[in-house]
Amino acid sequence: ERERARLHTRTVRSGELFARAAAVMPRGVPSGFQASDPWPTYLSHGSGATVWDVDGNEYADFHNGFGVMCVGHANPVIAAAVSERMALGTHFAAPTEGSIVVAEELRRRWGLPAWRFTNSGTESTMDAVHLARGATGRDVMVKIEGTYHGHHDAVMVSVKPPPDRMGPRSAPVPVPYGEGFAPGTAEATRVVPFNDADALRAVLDERVAGVIMEPAMMNVNIVPPVPGYLEAVRAACDEAGALLIFDEVKTGAAVAAGGATELYGVTPDVVCLAKAMCGGLPGGAVGMTAALGELIAEGRVKQQGTFNGNPLTMAAAEATLLRVLTDDAYRALHAANERLMAECDRVIETYALPAHTVGMGSKGCVVMSPEPVLEYRDYLTKIHHELTDLAWLFHMNRGVFMTPGQDEEWTLSVMHSGADRQRYVDAFETFAREVT
Ligand code: PLP
Repeated sequence: ERERARLHTRTVRSGELFARAAAVMPRGVPSGFQASDPWPTYLSHGSGATVWDVDGNEYADFHNGFGVMCVGHANPVIAAAVSERMALGTHFAAPTEGSIVVAEELRRRWGLPAWRFTNSGTESTMDAVHLARGATGRDVMVKIEGTYHGHHDAVMVSVKPPPDRMGPRSAPVPVPYGEGFAPGTAEATRVVPFNDADALRAVLDERVAGVIMEPAMMNVNIVPPVPGYLEAVRAACDEAGALLIFDEVKTGAAVAAGGATELYGVTPDVVCLAKAMCGGLPGGAVGMTAALGELIAEGRVKQQGTFNGNPLTMAAAEATLLRVLTDDAYRALHAANERLMAECDRVIETYALPAHTVGMGSKGCVVMSPEPVLEYRDYLTKIHHELTDLAWLFHMNRGVFMTPGQDEEWTLSVMHSGADRQRYVDAFETFAREVT
């Protein structure tokens, strides 16, 4: 209660803006995931690893725009590339060379030959589902229980399903995420737990067009695949004639040059990107095998969009991928992430906190459970959710900006310094001292 009251007093102006915003936007926000009780923290600007809210509070940013801002806020390289492009015209809906450069770089990074652009992660996963159904002529999609892949019908199923509706683990019930879907949506989606190749094999039959999954779950903290799991999934999909789709919207350009695909050495038929690849401008991409690219080329599967490959977005993506997120940058991000995790591990040990750290590339988190979490149901039962909430409040009140959802991870940028990381550790240590 003390920490919550403190947050309110620190963010009075946000509260005022919220009152105004709620009159024109449901819950006072442009997107559901930005909402927070009793009000969100409205930001004014950012530079490097720092953001400021409308009350003038300064934060080290570990939210980083849901992991988009690996380049850091107002990175001069991105700012220059975007300004230069701005002066040359920002939109033609005719292709520019920038899109070729970015597609070539994505091909180099992921090893997949054919690419198209989108404007968001939602569009990338929607195109991937169309490709799976179009290529196979089958209707059913399989997804992992608990994951979020954006807000189109096929994947708005069993996104953090409530325990009283999700059925037994051996036969998870597909639960629609909200209302407003076409009839049959949930029935056309089968749901399986993460990290369980047997469960996947059991639902793969001649109706299954594809399996869509994050190679590491990223919305229940971070849940990495157990050794051999992704290989088994790949083999099972091949055997069943189903496409394997990796949703790398979060992992993508953030965890390694070639994302989780590179880290784990398993290549999907389709990869979905967005978030970090465009350095803070809205954009995404879908990469695919040559055969799937042919389906689009022949016009059998439609892939299109007015803003796809927008020159401004492409300028930002090119600068991000070719000039900022270089191999050296990934090495530095990994090393910084390891140091932050080691410091958090030290705090956990010192205060005997029932927690552990998990990390991957630029991303990491403290999981409030002494045991590993392998899937969504573990996340529900093993994690100390009150401690997670409280840690969020301690961070926000001590100048460490975190996602409003309490189940996300931190993302470092190339502009985070040792001092920024120390701020995170100090807030975490204060939290640990006071709760233990
Ligand atoms: N896929 C994953 C794994 C995501 O985390 C998200 C968004 O958080 C999406 C897809 C949807 O992306 P967008 O919000 O850009 O539509």
